[in-house]
Amino acid sequence: MWSLIYKGVNFIKKNPTIIYSFFLIIVVSAIIFFNTYYSVIKFQKNNDTLLHSKAILAEDIFNLSIADEINNENKIQSLIEKIKDKDDEILEINILKPKENKDEFKIIASTDKSKINKSVANDIIFIAWQHPQEGIAYLMSDHSLGRFWEISKTIQSNGKKEGIVTFDMSLSDSDKLINQTIKRMYWVSIASLLIVLLLVVNHTRLFKYAVRVTKLEEVDKMKDDFISMASHELKMPLTIINGYAELLKDSLEKKSSEKNTSEFKERLKHLKNIKIASKRLRELVEDILDVSRIEQGKLKINLEKVNLSEILNEVMEQFQIDASKKKISLKLKNNLNNELWIKADEARVKQILVNLVGNAIKYTPQGSVTVKTEIDKDFIKIVVKDTGIGMSAQEMKNLFKKFYRIKNKKTEAINGTGLGLWISKELALKMKGDLTVESMSGVGSQFILTLPKFKE
Ligand code: ADP
Repeated sequence: MWSLIYKGVNFIKKNPTIIYSFFLIIVVSAIIFFNTYYSVIKFQKNNDTLLHSKAILAEDIFNLSIADEINNENKIQSLIEKIKDKDDEILEINILKPKENKDEFKIIASTDKSKINKSVANDIIFIAWQHPQEGIAYLMSDHSLGRFWEISKTIQSNGKKEGIVTFDMSLSDSDKLINQTIKRMYWVSIASLLIVLLLVVNHTRLFKYAVRVTKLEEVDKMKDDFISMASHELKMPLTIINGYAELLKDSLEKKSSEKNTSEFKERLKHLKNIKIASKRLRELVEDILDVSRIEQGKLKINLEKVNLSEILNEVMEQFQIDASKKKISLKLKNNLNNELWIKADEARVKQILVNLVGNAIKYTPQGSVTVKTEIDKDFIKIVVKDTGIGMSAQEMKNLFKKFYRIKNKKTEAINGTGLGLWISKELALKMKGDLTVESMSGVGSQFILTLPKFKE
C-alpha cells in the first residue's frame, strides 16, 4: 500500500503537469456542472414564485366572482367545475363554510365530488380564516400529483367572512421541463468531461514535446558550457607551446656558428610553422570563446570614448607585412581629422577591423585594400574596400550566419572557420552600430562598419 503511494508521489514529482491535468479535468467539469445546476435551481425557484403569484391572483379573481353566490351551492359547484376544465394546472378547488361551532369547516362544493359535505379541520384553513386579507400558500408534494401549491383564502362578502376557497395548482409542467433540463445538464457535463479528457491527453502529448525541448535546451547549454570550458583550457597549453617555440627560436639564434647551415634553416622553418599553427589555433579558440560568450549573453561590452584614428593606424600597421607579401597595396584614407572619437569598446572595434582588413587581404589575390572613413549624421562609417574575388548576391545571402563560408573554386584553398563575420556583426550591433556589405563577384567587396560618434 505504502509503496503504491510512494510510487504515485514519485510519478507526480516526475510529471508535475499531471496535477495541472487533474486540476483541468476537475475544475472545468465542476464549473460547467455547478453553473448549470445552480441556474436550473434558480430557474425553478423563480418559476415556483411566479406560479405562486399566478395562483394567488387567480384565486383573488375567483373569490370576487363567488363571494356573492356563497349560499348558492349548485351554482358554485358548476362554476368551479368550469374553471377546472379550462386550466390543466388546477388540480382541485374546494369551497368550505364554517360550521356553527367554527371548530370545523364543511366542504360545500368541490371539483372532487366525493369530498362534498365532508368536514375539514386543519391548520392551513384556520390560518387563512385568521388572516382574511391574505392568501395562504403551501408548497406540497404528492406521489401521484407531483409538486403543487395549495392556496387557501377567506371568501368575504361586504366585509363579512363567508367561507374559504382552497385551490391546488400543479407545478408538474414546469417540473417536467426542469427535469428535462437537468438531464440535458448531465449529458452536457459528461460531454464536457470527455472534451477536457481529450484536451488533457493532447496536453500530455504536448507536455512530452515540452520535456524534449527542455532536455534539448539542457543539452545545448551543456554543449555551450563544454565549449566554453574546453576553449579556456586550450588557451593555456597554446600559450605554453608558443612560449617554448619562442624560447627554442631564441636559443637557436644564439648559436651563430650554425647560422648558415641548412639544418639551422630547417629548424628555424619548423619553429616558425609551430608558431603560425599555434597562432591560428589560438585565434580559433578565441573565436569559439566569443561565440559561446555571445550566445550565452555573457559578452561584456564597455562603451567608452575611443579614438578611432589610433585603432585604424594600429590595424594598418599590423597588416602591412601580410599585404606587401601578397603585393597588395594597403592604404588608409582617413579624410576626417586624426582625432576621430567614437563611443565603443576599443578592443572589440579593433577585433572587427582586424577581421575585415584580414579578410580583405585574404580574399584579394591582387590589387588593393583601402580603408576609408566617412561621417553619417551621428555615426562614423569605416569602409574596408578591396579589389578581390568578391561575392555574388546568392553567396552573400547567408554571409553573416555562423560558420557560413562561401564554397567555390576561388575560396577552396583559403582557410577559415566562417565565424569572423558573424562575431563582427554581433559586436557591431552590441555597440549600437552595424556591419553591412556590398560586393560583386570578380570585382571586389566593401564592408561598411557603422559606429556611433562620441557626444560630449
Ligand atoms: P572565414 O574568413 O574564416 O571563412 P568569415 O566569417 O570572416 O570567415 O567570412 C565568411 C565568408 O565570407 C568567407 O568564407 C568568405 O567566403 C566570405 N568573405 C569574407 N570577406 C570577404 C571578402 N573581403 N571578399 C570576398 N569574400 C569574403
